[in-house]
Amino acid sequence: MRDILAPESARWRAFTAVFADVVESAGYQLIIPPLMEDLGVFSRIGEATDVVTKEMYDFFDKGDRHVALRPEQTASVCRAFVQHRPVTPWKAWYSGPNFRYEKPQRGRYRQFDQVGIEVLGVNDAHLDVEVIALGSEFFRRLGLRQVELRINSLGEPADRARYVDALRTHFEAGGEDLSAASRDTLTKNPLRVLDSKRVSDAPYIATAPTIDQFWSDDAAAHFHTVQAGLSQLDISFVIDMKLVRGLDYYRHTTFEFVGGTLESAQNALGGGGRYDGLVEDLGGPTTPGIGFALGVDRTLLACDDEGVFAAPDPSVDVFVVDTAGGASALAITAELRAAGISADRSYDNRSMKAQMKGANRSGAAFAVIVGTDEIDAGTVTLKPLRSGGEQSIVPMAHLVSDLRSRLQEANS
Ligand code: AMP
Repeated sequence: MRDILAPESARWRAFTAVFADVVESAGYQLIIPPLMEDLGVFSRIGEATDVVTKEMYDFFDKGDRHVALRPEQTASVCRAFVQHRPVTPWKAWYSGPNFRYEKPQRGRYRQFDQVGIEVLGVNDAHLDVEVIALGSEFFRRLGLRQVELRINSLGEPADRARYVDALRTHFEAGGEDLSAASRDTLTKNPLRVLDSKRVSDAPYIATAPTIDQFWSDDAAAHFHTVQAGLSQLDISFVIDMKLVRGLDYYRHTTFEFVGGTLESAQNALGGGGRYDGLVEDLGGPTTPGIGFALGVDRTLLACDDEGVFAAPDPSVDVFVVDTAGGASALAITAELRAAGISADRSYDNRSMKAQMKGANRSGAAFAVIVGTDEIDAGTVTLKPLRSGGEQSIVPMAHLVSDLRSRLQEANS
């Protein structure tokens, strides 16, 4: 687990702000679920996923409750829906850390942040389009150009069940040729075998039946509407029949955003899909859901590769240099900050030279300099630091209004 320090931390904050802007413009509202839940909430995600079987940070608390740090937030959102019964459609967005006991590497950590949305209570295929479009719009707002959208449909639950049977028969024919790990996966969830990256499994995966052969008319129509909607919005996509997402709850549309610049083992920036049964399984009424989660780390790696979405400039507007003991710096920084002008200063009554060095290092646009002469005259000296222009004397009473217009000019 890592510390995220400045300037990267400022970038994270800006990242979430952009995401909030995009999804709140579509009526989604923030949910802040707890970091820890009863283990049972997460085991609903699926007994055949590594996230549940191997990677959960679970333990018994002092009340002997079996709890876990959340490995993702969809299950928590569904649990919250069951608990609070909000009116549908319920559109929620979230951001924050999740925990998985994985092997840490570039783009994969034990504590990692995601941003995401979930909508509960709507079957309309146009919602699938909206959800996917919001993901695309977010990447566009970050400045990313090389994100590929992959989509698929798992059909109705019965279609999926027939497909799983067909996959089981297909892979069982591979017998001992299949990797031991995939043979084990096959007994739990044949769909997950399609995710295997092992060389010995590749020929069997290449010849496996595809889901489209099992779609009902309704499922095909739903998927057709999704594709037509994406085309209508000029969102390009590729259909990837191997994109099955292993969780038992997924049905109809599944999708993934893939970073074109990232190595293939870690190139999924995020993904999601339509799911059914999760709310029911947590004790609620039959409720359809759809959502996605995007990884902050991997998306920022993609931004690095494409040279977009740099850390915001941390510079303050003004640095106050006080050579008369520091009481003026105390008053002036407070006045400027209250007026919405960001201001920093130095401490410990340092020399003029040391304070000016601090002013230059701060990246501030202006230094406000006060000494005993200025205090006596009720003025300050204003020195432009970035533009290198002439310094001037400004009456203390006009400082805020003067700085406001100068900053506006400097930023225009
Ligand atoms: P998932 O919840 O497994 O569908 O993952 C969605 C996205 O979250 C992935 O595409 C990654 O961008 C990100 N992600 C998942 N696991 C990790 C991890 N251990 N470290 C960093 N990012 C992760």
